[in-house]
Amino acid sequence: MSVSRIIHFSLVLLLGFAQAAVVSAGQWLEAARPMMGTEVRVELWAGDTARGRALQDAAFEEVARLDRMMNPMNTGSALSWINREAGNSPVPLSAELFEVLQRALHYSRLSGGAFDVSFASAGRLYDYRGETAPDADLLEQARASIDYRDILIDPEASTVRFGQPGMALDLGGIAKGYAVDRAIEILSRGGIRSAVVSAGGDSRILGDLGDRPRMIGIRHPRREGEFAAVIPLADTAISTSGDYERFFIRDGVRYHHILDPATGKSADTLQSVSIIAPRAVDSDALSTTVFVLGLEPGLALVNSLPGIDAVIVDSNGKLHYSEDLLLNTTAVSYTHLRA
Ligand code: ADP
Ligand code: MG
Repeated sequence: MSVSRIIHFSLVLLLGFAQAAVVSAGQWLEAARPMMGTEVRVELWAGDTARGRALQDAAFEEVARLDRMMNPMNTGSALSWINREAGNSPVPLSAELFEVLQRALHYSRLSGGAFDVSFASAGRLYDYRGETAPDADLLEQARASIDYRDILIDPEASTVRFGQPGMALDLGGIAKGYAVDRAIEILSRGGIRSAVVSAGGDSRILGDLGDRPRMIGIRHPRREGEFAAVIPLADTAISTSGDYERFFIRDGVRYHHILDPATGKSADTLQSVSIIAPRAVDSDALSTTVFVLGLEPGLALVNSLPGIDAVIVDSNGKLHYSEDLLLNTTAVSYTHLRA
């Protein structure tokens, strides 16, 4: 070995030690709490453990606050108030509900109503745990009340009113993503540079692992404990919508929690959709949207949106990628790895 190579080798070792010393001056903190009908996780790298824990608590508290505001099952929530009153008169909106509803309506318009938070008039007739579904007449009646164009927002007054009776809203397809963004904002403002916040299938990654992106696995929709794909990601959000989260099977039909507003029945052409976007509010709404739209219209929508990518598993278990991911060979080469 030449002298210069020996020097180089020891330099690398020294640098390695220096890096280890910097890294050990902090701690990776992880915690999970049941919230928003799922598990919310807040993981972060903290230089100062006490401050890291305080920020972790603040992030959880923010998610809890939004859950209290947007949970349709909680009769005291602002959303329940809207569902009770907006059929009679305009109901004032908090800044957060205003923002989430506007974003939801944006995706309704983009998708011609595939994403529609007024799906709830039909959605509330299903009980996935109790394995019950409405009969055809009842479903048809409820389906007629689904129409995002009748969610009437007055931006000046910041109010919402329903344009027809029988309407109800459920923000289950977008609220978790919004909450994840808000939690990440709290961590970032507090000086955290590396973190992951997730609420069920909606995650946002702040920073990277120092010198490389984090590897994020997309669950295999039919094989427990396996990944359909693994993608390197940094500073982005990723959401997955699947037909395996909340479902029951009766007479060979899979009843699950993502409904096609056109039929009031579970969308049945895909097994899972993962969307990568800068913000989780968008990845969340879009994963549900594309799941309802189906493969070709879904990919066309994603390919028309700059900065948005998709990994889709079709009904035969075949993987499909949006154009930008197909061009990015690093991402594709990581697919089919096992958990
Ligand atoms: P989760 O993370 O809860 O599994 P997804 O992002 O996959 O959520 O979205 C499913 C949720 O979205 C459902 O539980 C329901 O609350 C809501 N939802 C279902 N169908 C629609 C739809 N067509 N438009 C808007 N929201 C929907
Ligand atoms: Mg979603």
